[in-house]
Amino acid sequence: MNPLLTPPKEQITEIIGRIYRRGLTTTTGGNISIRDDNGNVWVTPAGIDKGSLRPGDIVCVHPDGSVSGPHTPSSELPFHLAIYQARPDLKAIVHAHPPALVSFSIVGDFPNTNVIPQAKQVCGPIGFAHYELPGSEILGAVIAEEFSKGFNAVILENHGTVVGGTDLNNAFERFETFEFVARILINANRLGQPNYLDENQLHAFEAQYNDPLPEMESVEYPSDEREFRSDICRMVRRACDQGLMISTYGTVSARWRGDDFLITPRNFSRWDIEPSDVVQIKGEHREPGKTPSRSVHIHQEIYRRNPEVKAIIFTQAPYSMAFGVAGKSFDNRTIPESWILLQDVLLLPFGAHFAGQQRISQSLRADHPVLIIQNDSILVTGKNLLHAFDRLEVAEFSARSLINSISLGQMKPINEVQIEELRKKFLPDE
Ligand SMILES: [Zn+2]
Repeated sequence: MNPLLTPPKEQITEIIGRIYRRGLTTTTGGNISIRDDNGNVWVTPAGIDKGSLRPGDIVCVHPDGSVSGPHTPSSELPFHLAIYQARPDLKAIVHAHPPALVSFSIVGDFPNTNVIPQAKQVCGPIGFAHYELPGSEILGAVIAEEFSKGFNAVILENHGTVVGGTDLNNAFERFETFEFVARILINANRLGQPNYLDENQLHAFEAQYNDPLPEMESVEYPSDEREFRSDICRMVRRACDQGLMISTYGTVSARWRGDDFLITPRNFSRWDIEPSDVVQIKGEHREPGKTPSRSVHIHQEIYRRNPEVKAIIFTQAPYSMAFGVAGKSFDNRTIPESWILLQDVLLLPFGAHFAGQQRISQSLRADHPVLIIQNDSILVTGKNLLHAFDRLEVAEFSARSLINSISLGQMKPINEVQIEELRKKFLPDE
């Protein structure tokens, strides 16, 4: 979705659809608005089913206060207007009651986003607005007060969250990332104590990137190359739909010929990826005019050292990441399917993924196809993209079962003898 070319009504229905499908709002909770260059505020209507909202349902509130459209504007319109008044730079607002952020809001707290590098960057510092009656002018005033301090993401006490953005994509990315951080933190707290990144670690993360690879002189797009582009896009969108990837983080690549590969670009909205966005990497060169993911050097290193790896996914699925944030080992000896597919999942320290490091390619072996990098990501590899994706899904299901089992009792892992039995029957060549 390109906010420069898509009418506000269509942007709003597209984004509300994503939010609803991803379980980030209930059918009547939450509202979205866009302020256009003429000062009109386009907003979701009051009490209309979010699952079937159409562009024609969106209401326009003009600068003189008059309203056009078939419905009444959202009852929370007063705080949208108050925020726009306080912050001329903001052009879009998302408000909802997503479950993990509501958990923080009902204990009077907010998530510390220093838990993964890009979360802090995307969300910025977090504001906290104390409770006021929904729909009231005073609620608008306390929220606008937080935004006027420069916060772009605010927790509403006993209510939910409001985030602003320079356009609706920007606001949605912030909203989605904020809820994901909250989910990761809640899960990590169930496992133990979350580890936070300090300023030095965040700086080290930013400082490590080299220039992108030099551009190749000419580029060819044979049909097998184009197949990989489509496959990568399908996997990225599927991962977003399944809650395994969010708009601001996640890299997918596939080995093409020899050590050459195709990889997702830097800074793109995962929900909107198109085959033409994917970047070809050939030898030491990148496709002209495109910038590959910042992790391109790690992918290159893995394809060179690990001939069995044909596809790689880096992402931040919220249950798997909880292990990375709590620094707890992921005991995958849960059910046969899980162990056969993932085998033993290794936990690597933060920094193992930095450019120039060889820890990852050295740790990846046939019996360790999946790694968790502390406070950064889960890395899955496979003999093709679907195989890697399957491993990602299984890892996230396993992580979820492990975390949920904590409230039921002590986990009893599959024992060494049973593991050997599985190895002989299902993994005879490894
Ligand atoms: Zn609300």
